[in-house]
Amino acid sequence: MQNRYIFFDADDTLWENECFFREAEDRFVELLSGFAPDDEIRCSLAEAQEENIPVFGYGSKTYLIGMADCAVKICGEKFNSTIYKGINKIIRRLSHHEVHVIDGVRETLESLYGRYRLAVATKGDLREQLGKFRASGLEGFFHHIEVMENKDKRNYAAMARKLDIAPEEIIMIGNSVKSDIAPVIKLGGTAIHVPHEIIWEHEKMDMPESVNIFEAGNIKEIPKILDFIDLLAQ
Ligand SMILES: [Mg+2]
Repeated sequence: MQNRYIFFDADDTLWENECFFREAEDRFVELLSGFAPDDEIRCSLAEAQEENIPVFGYGSKTYLIGMADCAVKICGEKFNSTIYKGINKIIRRLSHHEVHVIDGVRETLESLYGRYRLAVATKGDLREQLGKFRASGLEGFFHHIEVMENKDKRNYAAMARKLDIAPEEIIMIGNSVKSDIAPVIKLGGTAIHVPHEIIWEHEKMDMPESVNIFEAGNIKEIPKILDFIDLLAQ
């Protein structure tokens, strides 16, 4: 049993993340409030993000570019260095926020440690993700951290190859149906969905139908669900 990997998503599964992006978005809307209505700014920022993610990947640096692109569009000729400095300040604050480990995570990891090989499977900017991982105080529980540029079927399969396991052996725990559940199910693996109260629009997706998907009310239910999965496999 000790050799079996259990993978955890990081953002909004182990620690809070989306709330800080929402906070940054609110500050950005405030910064541009003299130029356009709130909804228009939010919509234009979301569009800029969707355009930039495939080119620059996930993370706050891409958000900086998205905010600058959006501000240029909204402010036109009135875009100036003060606005850019305002954006820069918002992003610096976002990238240096304290890591808030979600309630119940530490106890859950303590109870699983030694029974499974625990790993983190996350996506985004390498420096940012490793920084949060180290600052979380959870590093000691984990055997491996995988930072993918995007959490798709191909990258999960590559992660499995690297760790010498079959893709069907992946047991992934996370809050995002699109990133943590759907690609793992497509590979024949197992997924446990732990919903988070706020989810980024970009990550929204209908839950696929599969007997290999389990719903957890919160992270503390994970050990019990893993016992159940083991029982089913016997
Ligand atoms: Mg997540």
